[in-house]
Amino acid sequence: MQKAWFLAVALLAGCGGSLPTGDEEIRFARITGYLNDARAAVTHTIDDSSKFVPAAIDAMDKYGVKATIFVSTRRDPIAGLWPRLNQAIENGHEVGAHSRTHRCQWPDTAEFCRSAYDDEEVAGSRDDILENTKQPYVWSWCYPCGNCAGYDFVHRALAAAGYVTARTYPGEEQDEHNVPDLQGWAANPYEAAYTQVVQKKGGIARSGRTDVAEINAKFDEVYRSGGIYSFLSHPQWLDFGPEDFYEQHLKHIGGRNDVWYVPMGPLYTYRSVLEKSGVRKVAANRFSVFHTLDRRIYRNAITLEFRGVPEGVRAFAHDKELPEVQAGPTTRWDHEFFRRDGERVFVTVKPDAMVEFR
Ligand SMILES: [Zn+2]
Repeated sequence: MQKAWFLAVALLAGCGGSLPTGDEEIRFARITGYLNDARAAVTHTIDDSSKFVPAAIDAMDKYGVKATIFVSTRRDPIAGLWPRLNQAIENGHEVGAHSRTHRCQWPDTAEFCRSAYDDEEVAGSRDDILENTKQPYVWSWCYPCGNCAGYDFVHRALAAAGYVTARTYPGEEQDEHNVPDLQGWAANPYEAAYTQVVQKKGGIARSGRTDVAEINAKFDEVYRSGGIYSFLSHPQWLDFGPEDFYEQHLKHIGGRNDVWYVPMGPLYTYRSVLEKSGVRKVAANRFSVFHTLDRRIYRNAITLEFRGVPEGVRAFAHDKELPEVQAGPTTRWDHEFFRRDGERVFVTVKPDAMVEFR
């Protein structure tokens, strides 16, 4: 799909202006696969309303890793968590819905799922997040106990409530939840697994995954292939401290200049924005960037690569000069800026922009 899309963009770019003829011409090359031309992406999810959530966020913030924080919105100690969650949102994390009351049943019959996925749990938890935080939208759902993820009618209920993705927790009952080994976007965003867990055993699972060399090696494998490394933790099954496995892993994966650290919802909406955006050259130094998606939901910035931008020329969008940034970890999904890398210029903007060089 991505390849076909690049072709479409190339055609759009071609018909909007003349073909490159000399060194002077500014040329749009492509939209990058990840934000800011990162070579790999890292997304983290943490589950459950527990008193350990703030410690997990604090640990992530030491290393610049961004997460979707899934909370059950009517479960203690949620009232005490909201202030810290709000602060986390401001710092680039996302709050996702883990239902209101976290109902579980093994096996998860259709009858159980119909009652556990009623409006109260599905839309209610979304509304609780909107009411208690400044987050403008709730993109992500997490299946309590991994139940009900296989039912189409559940996916439809989640989509109807506006969720764009839902994270699974497959095979806990069979102790198969540790390494689903997803290394890219899930084919079905409502059955989105993850690469591996990083946690001690807990729940009904018989095992966990805390061997630092092993969990770091799995990250290395995904990083080398330019994939999406997605890992899951339950804060109540972590140890906190710089020498303990969780922080050791965060330290290994964090702070890399060529990695995009992004919560799960904005990662999945980026895929849609990437597929649906077009770029048209409208003048020698002006490019129109657009998509037709709902901007209340699809708020992502995307990165455009340009060639032939003379030294000293600045990039503008929405008639404002974009700040220039140096190489560094990409930790925000909705900020606008530009960066030079040798002959290439990367302009990161929200679509619906006129990008101009002057
Ligand atoms: Zn849970």
